[in-house]
Amino acid sequence: PTPYDELTSALKDTASERVNIKSDRAIAHWFRWDLRLHDNTALHRAAESAKSHGVPLICLYVFSHEDFHAHYTSPARIDFTLRSLRVLKADLAKLDIPLWVEEVNDRKQTRTQVLNWCTKWGVSELHANMEYEVDELRRDTKLLREGIKQDIAFHFYHDTCVVEPLILRSGTGRTYSVFTPFFKQWEPYVYKNECVANLFPSPPKNNPKLKAKDTFRDLFSQTSFPDPLPAKQLSQKDSHRLAKLWPAGEHEAKSRLKVFLENGISKYSDRRDRPDIENGTSALSLHFAAGTLSARQAVRAVLDHSSTRSLDSGHHGWIREICFRDFYKTILLTNPHVCMNKAYHEEYHNVIWEYSEEHFQRWVEGKTGYPIVDAAMRQLASNKYMHNRCRMIVASFLCKDLMLDWRKGEKYFMEQLIDGDFASNNAGWQFCSSSGTDAQPYFRIFNPLSQSEKFDPNGDYIRHWVPELSNVQGKAIHEPKTRLSASEFKKLGYPDPIIEHKFARERALERYKTGLGRN
Ligand code: FAD
Repeated sequence: PTPYDELTSALKDTASERVNIKSDRAIAHWFRWDLRLHDNTALHRAAESAKSHGVPLICLYVFSHEDFHAHYTSPARIDFTLRSLRVLKADLAKLDIPLWVEEVNDRKQTRTQVLNWCTKWGVSELHANMEYEVDELRRDTKLLREGIKQDIAFHFYHDTCVVEPLILRSGTGRTYSVFTPFFKQWEPYVYKNECVANLFPSPPKNNPKLKAKDTFRDLFSQTSFPDPLPAKQLSQKDSHRLAKLWPAGEHEAKSRLKVFLENGISKYSDRRDRPDIENGTSALSLHFAAGTLSARQAVRAVLDHSSTRSLDSGHHGWIREICFRDFYKTILLTNPHVCMNKAYHEEYHNVIWEYSEEHFQRWVEGKTGYPIVDAAMRQLASNKYMHNRCRMIVASFLCKDLMLDWRKGEKYFMEQLIDGDFASNNAGWQFCSSSGTDAQPYFRIFNPLSQSEKFDPNGDYIRHWVPELSNVQGKAIHEPKTRLSASEFKKLGYPDPIIEHKFARERALERYKTGLGRN
């Protein structure tokens, strides 16, 4: 059984025992990557229960540096989380609902600390939305069983996807492992089904008198908050810059979505692959990752937005991308081995990689001598975000041109991205290294030059991110080494290409062919 199977059986096994636990004390919601009040399944269920039993609703967030560390969570993402938490805490306070932030130093202590917290505040039920990574599923299964022994009923829900994973099945009853058939079922299901029709409303207010009760006064008065990150992880200057670039919290997510619906979505199909066009995509991924916006809310807003207009290719195209997110979460649940450094298609284990730290560093620093790759890597280092087309270009470059193990790139992305999300990042890397669910064979190898000419035709994206090339005119921007004279190129102070693409392509084909032949 997968860790998800174990959690579902534990939920079933304990259902009657959990119902028998008297809900006469506080009811709690545990926030995780769902940092919003609206359309939050577990929060809504907790609020419903609190209301029907006439007991208070209280909230918990567990801040664990070790968990962040274990998932290579980037400082930018941690910082965004802290900023979003502040917004959430203030919004909850207006509803007379306290949010307690529990700091955990040792990951193994999370369960004990959560249970102790429940005991301390007299919690009889704790509701939370599921996280689909292996360790998290296992932790929740244990908590569920330990909770029963201490008279605390834990409830876990699906929340992060538009369509609950594993509901959609092929004619033979199997879950999907290829995107296109999944999408063919997913799209009509979403349009017809109430998964996006009846979004959960915001939670009811607690009774304001709660604040005065001795038992809860301390809970409300928690003023300490996890410290900002040490400067060696994120300097104050960067923290301010990122806060301006990526304002946090649920309200910001909603207004970003609104702006995208007004100005971006109808042109999405034409512009989504163009990193040189500002706001060609929604830049909402960080909000989906933190849960400051739910994917259902986004789809619902698109459908509402288009009710006056027709659902054009932009609307369809964008909803299709949201479906990719659902699909990759489903893959993670059904294939937990991808959480363990393994290729989705395990036969790709035998590909032999290069081990050049120098090449890796040049890729990281955006000094490969391939302008589109360097522009993208510098965008990532600066803004902690990279355009999707560029993610594919740089990932393909790392594992097919430099022949470096895709897992190194996957980890580096998580360490940098403000929208780092295990399922999407892992799937993106496996797609580019050809070991993932995609049906395309390994011989699809991106040519960085033609990608650059096609998707940054005037070179504006490159000029913006690679100042050494800011004065290079015309097509030379894509390939300065070959298209400028030797002396002109030398003056730029820009590196020679790290590797010849034609040679690299042949080498990759050979390595993949040999690797697969070993099975
Ligand atoms: P939009 O074009 O506006 O799309 C809307 C939403 O759809 C996105 O916010 C995202 O939630 C979802 N989406 C779009 N494309 C994809 C996709 N290919 N896979 C899954 N969901 C998608 N996305 C992450 O959220 N976190 C990651 O860590 C991540 N790592 C990636 C690594 C690689 C190597 C690749 C190729 C892709 C990765 N993606 C990741 C997917 C995609 O690049 C980003 O979701 C997208 O660039 C975010 O920008 P946006 O919000 O403007 O997207």
